[in-house]
Amino acid sequence: MHCGQSLPCIDVQDPRTNNKTRQGGIELTGGDGAMHRCHPIFASFVGNYPEQVLVSCCKSGTCPKCHISKDNLSTLGVYKQQSFTDALDILSTIDHGPFEFATACATINMQPVHHPFWQELPYTHLFQSIMPDVLHQLYQGMVKHLIKWLKTSWHSRN
Ligand SMILES: [Zn+2]
Repeated sequence: MHCGQSLPCIDVQDPRTNNKTRQGGIELTGGDGAMHRCHPIFASFVGNYPEQVLVSCCKSGTCPKCHISKDNLSTLGVYKQQSFTDALDILSTIDHGPFEFATACATINMQPVHHPFWQELPYTHLFQSIMPDVLHQLYQGMVKHLIKWLKTSWHSRN
């Protein structure tokens, strides 16, 4: 995981990094060359839909952020957001056996992933940290459709 262009890459999965972050931060060099005491946290995830599916452990074809059903993905509306505490509770059922774990994960449309990297990150709410896929959702989804519609409308008038 990259934490920013002006900062060195920090392995957010490394428990030593997370312990240092919790206890007093780590020293990082900024783009200006100055050293700073930093407390890096996993605050946002920017990726396309297939990457969002992998990170959120949701099933392909479902929303990585909310509980909308597959059939309603193209409709507008406000849907209940995925609960991070519910996801953590379900991930803790792994000790009950693989069948129970898979069944519990299915109740929130989650793949049964053994200890995803975000499970023990401090100050993290994975489902809120997923940013919109601007290229595919806005540009290729909305703007291309709008341009095609405008061209069709323009040609039908002339
Ligand atoms: Zn959604």
